[in-house]
Amino acid sequence: MQVHLSRPDITDKEIEVINEVIRSPILALGPKMKEFEQAIADYVGVKHAIAVNSGTSGLHLLIRAFGISDGDEVITTPFSFIASSNCIVYERAKPVFVDIQPDTANIDPNLIEAAITPRTKAILPVDAFGQPAKLDVIRKIADRHGLVVIEDSCESIGSEYKGIKAGSAEFADAAVFAFYPNKQITTGEGGMIVTDDERIAFLCKSMRNQGRGETGVWLSHERLGYNYRMDELSAALGAVQMSRIEEIIPKRKRVADMYNKRLSEIPGVKLPYIAPEVTRMSWFVYVIRVGVDEPTPERQSMVRDHVMMRFKEAKIGCRPYFTPIHLQPFYRNEFGLKEGMFPVTEHAGRTGIAIPFHNHITEEEVEYVAEVLEKALDEALN
Ligand SMILES: *Cc1c(COP(=O)(O)O)cnc(C)c1O
Repeated sequence: MQVHLSRPDITDKEIEVINEVIRSPILALGPKMKEFEQAIADYVGVKHAIAVNSGTSGLHLLIRAFGISDGDEVITTPFSFIASSNCIVYERAKPVFVDIQPDTANIDPNLIEAAITPRTKAILPVDAFGQPAKLDVIRKIADRHGLVVIEDSCESIGSEYKGIKAGSAEFADAAVFAFYPNKQITTGEGGMIVTDDERIAFLCKSMRNQGRGETGVWLSHERLGYNYRMDELSAALGAVQMSRIEEIIPKRKRVADMYNKRLSEIPGVKLPYIAPEVTRMSWFVYVIRVGVDEPTPERQSMVRDHVMMRFKEAKIGCRPYFTPIHLQPFYRNEFGLKEGMFPVTEHAGRTGIAIPFHNHITEEEVEYVAEVLEKALDEALN
């Protein structure tokens, strides 16, 4: 049996709409982009949604729109996909990492204030694996110090923190969703900025379109901009996926529930922890941790590597999740970061494995993954 790590959920409806758009004369900057933007704005409950061609583009535009630049500091988490930190570096600002909480694997709010300096401009929390960070606490800290909150909600569309949706303006000045094919909903490549701030929305709209003004002549460029536009095919796909979001999130929950139940029987597996403040979890990936109680980092890595080897032999898709950003070669070289600086992140990085997770995982596949995992852990731990 082969079990894929992830795969998108595409129905005839998506294919029909794509066919309609490809036959139409409008392939960019058309009604589908507006429709998708409106759908996201309504769903999240924000005033503005701005479609872009990737989550990374969205984060980059927000860093620029908030005027974060040379020498400014942004407090963020090292336990994330590289884009949440790269967007800061693009503007020659400095990502200031603080460690995560061991249970949720999200930025530890208790460590944020100690990292604030006169150069700090923003806090950029990431909703890791779909679970919102401690957004209310982060908002309070930001308000106390006059900082902006940019939420990287690329993995958390539909999740709720204390009843409030990820990306909502209640906690974040602005947020970004992403639609790469492994995310809850996909546009192929794509992203969406959400905010209640009219000025930020205006700047992002202008900068995604080469710095053009909203009105005025096509070839008048008022500021430095980019081509970060989302095309009509992607937007059409996104609009249909969005219309199915309340079907997709429960499908993913069903798979997470199956894993939670079956894998809890296996000694040596640590299941994902969801904080009680998270009133709805929209699952992005399912990450288990193995070897967590081993006495040394070497032993922990050995157990994880052994399990991954057995998964690979059994054709079960898997991936270390995440490799900490501060340990990536570019970050080590550029910022002098090294092992030992963020021990909780490093422990999570050494022991986490994303296992097959998508809308169509069957009970048989869960059983197969569980059996291979159980045997591998038995070999590695006993
Ligand atoms: C997916 C993702 C992004 C954006 O990725 P793109 O491939 O640029 O769409 C950003 N941050 C996190 C945490 C992500 O998971």
